[in-house]
Amino acid sequence: MKKPQNDKTYDLFIIGGGINGCGIARDATGRGLSVALAEMNDLASATSSASTKLFHGGLRYLEYFEFRLVREALIERENLLVAMPHISWPMRFVLPYHQDMRFESDTPTSKLLTLFMPWMKGQRPAWLIRLGLFMYDNLGGRKILPGTKTLDLKTAREGKPIINKFERAYEYSDCWVEDSRLVVLNARDAQKRGAKIMTRTKVTDAVSKDGIWTVTTQNQITGEQQVFKAKLLVNAGGPWVENIIRNVAHISTNEGIRLVRGSHIVTKKLFDHDKAYFFQGEDGRIIFAIPYEQDFTLIGTTDQDHKDVDTKPECTPEEQEYLCKFASQYFEKPITREDIVWTYSGVRPLYDDHASSSTAATREYVLKLNETGEAPALNIFGGKITTYRRLAEAAIAKFEHFFPEMTSKWTKRVPLPGGDFAHDQFDQLVQELQNIVPFIGPKTARRLVRAYGTDAQIIVKGVASEKDMGTHFGHGIYARELDWTIAHEWVMTAEDYLWRRTKMGLRVSNEQTSEIGAYIAKAITAQ
Ligand SMILES: Cc1cc2nc3c(=O)[nH]c(=O)nc-3n(C[C@H](O)[C@H](O)[C@H](O)COP(=O)(O)OP(=O)(O)OC[C@H]3O[C@@H](n4cnc5c(N)ncnc54)[C@H](O)[C@@H]3O)c2cc1C
Repeated sequence: MKKPQNDKTYDLFIIGGGINGCGIARDATGRGLSVALAEMNDLASATSSASTKLFHGGLRYLEYFEFRLVREALIERENLLVAMPHISWPMRFVLPYHQDMRFESDTPTSKLLTLFMPWMKGQRPAWLIRLGLFMYDNLGGRKILPGTKTLDLKTAREGKPIINKFERAYEYSDCWVEDSRLVVLNARDAQKRGAKIMTRTKVTDAVSKDGIWTVTTQNQITGEQQVFKAKLLVNAGGPWVENIIRNVAHISTNEGIRLVRGSHIVTKKLFDHDKAYFFQGEDGRIIFAIPYEQDFTLIGTTDQDHKDVDTKPECTPEEQEYLCKFASQYFEKPITREDIVWTYSGVRPLYDDHASSSTAATREYVLKLNETGEAPALNIFGGKITTYRRLAEAAIAKFEHFFPEMTSKWTKRVPLPGGDFAHDQFDQLVQELQNIVPFIGPKTARRLVRAYGTDAQIIVKGVASEKDMGTHFGHGIYARELDWTIAHEWVMTAEDYLWRRTKMGLRVSNEQTSEIGAYIAKAITAQ
C-alpha cells in the first residue's frame, strides 16, 4: 500500500494513548511543542481503563519504603481533585482491624519488625497501622481531604455488613477517579491546544536518521499506511513499551518490563453507604471493596505475573474465586461467583527491578532517555494514574534541552475540559442541568455532570423537549450524548461508549448494545 508523505516535522511523536501518552501530549502541546500521538486501538483501551480508579498515595507502599512515590501521589491527589471535580471526588476508606493480619514476608517493614520484634511473627500490629496512617495524613499537606479517625464497628453503620469479629476500624481519605475519562479529557485538551490525536492507528516502524525519526503508522480499520517525521519519539506503550523499544524503534536495551496482571470483580451493591473498605488478608495482600456506579460494588485487585503482552488479560476463575474468598473473610454475607456481574483485568507495566514477587515489584515510574540512535527517544516504564501529571512534567524535563524555546510547566490545577467548577459545586451543577432539561430525570442529569462536567450544558444546548435529545436507547442514553462522544471523544464503537466513555455497559441489554453500535456506525459513515 502507498505511503503518503507528510511534510511536517513534529517536535514529538508519542506512541500510546493511555494516561501517560495523553498526559504528556497535553502538557507538551501547552508548552508550545508540536505533537502527534498514535493509539493502536481506542484511547485508554489497555491498562488505563482497568485500574482500581483511585487517586491515592498507596498506603501499602509505605511498607515497601516507597516514600518518594507515596509523598508525590499524596500531594498530587488534591491538585487533581481541583482540576477535575466532575470525574474525581473524595472517598473515605474503612480499614477494619484484627490481630491476625499479616505482612507479606519480603516487605522491608516486615523484615525490620522480624529483626527487632521477632515475637510478632509477621503480624501487622495496630500501632504500626496507626503510624502508617499518621504518615499518610501528614506527608502530603492535605487541605480538602479530612484526616484519619477511629470507628467502633459495633455501633457505626459501616460495621453492619462486616463480620462481628472485627470490632474496630480506621477511616482515612483518598480519592476516586474515572480512569478512562481522565485519558480522553487529556486527549481532548491536547487536541484543543493543537496536538494531532489518532486512534486505531498502530505504529509499525520508527527509524532515526540525521536527527529525525521517520515513523510509519497503519490505520487499523482501513489498513492505510502513513509516514510522519518527528524530532523526538516518546514511547508510552504501557505493557508494550519493551516490545516497541526492540521491535518498532529497533533500539538495543537492557531495560525490561514486568507484566503484572490485576483483576477486579463487580457485584450488585453489597452495602448501603458511600465509603469504601480496605481489607487486609492473612497472606499480607490487601484488596478494596468500593461503591461503584451507584448500584454496584467493585472488588479488587489481584497480582499475577502475566506472560505475554498480546494475550488479552482476563480475570481467571481462580482470580474470581480468590477475590470472593478474600472479601468473604470480611462481609457477613459470603460472596460467591454467582454474585459477579462483570469482571475486568489489566496489566501493570512495571519496571523490572527483579523483585521476588509481583506484589513487591516497584510501582515507581522510570523514564529512560535513549540517545544511542541518530535521534532521541524517551521510554516510559511504570507509573500510576495518580502521578500521570507529575510523570508528564518529569518526562518533559528529560528532553527540554532539545527544545529551548519551550515554555515552563503549567498543568497544576488547570481544569480539564468540563472541570471548570469548584469541587463542592457539583450538586449545584446537577440541579442547573435538571432545570434546563427536566425530562431526562435526576439520575441521568447526575450521570451527565459526572462524565462531562460543565460541558453537559453544552451537550444539551438548544434542547427544548425530550424529542430534541434524539433517539432514546434506554437508561437515559440519548442520541445527543452519543453524537457528542463521536464528535469530541473519538467514539467509534458501542464498546468505546459503553465501557470507556461511560460504564453504561453495566446496564444495557444486548439488543440496546446492538442499537447503539448501529447508530454509531451510521453516524461515522455519514461524517
Ligand atoms: C489492576 C490495576 C489497578 C491499578 N490501580 C491503580 C489505581 O487505583 N490508581 C493508580 O494511580 N494507578 C493504578 N494502576 C496503574 C495505572 O493504571 C497504570 O500505571 C497506567 O494506566 C499506565 O498507563 P500507560 O499510559 O502507561 O499504559 P496504557 O494505558 O496501557 O497505554 C498504553 C497504550 O499504548 C498503546 N500501544 C501499544 N503499542 C502501540 C503501538 N505500536 N502503536 C500505537 N499504540 C500502541 C496501547 O494500545 C495502549 O492503549 C493500576 C493498574 C492495574 C493494572
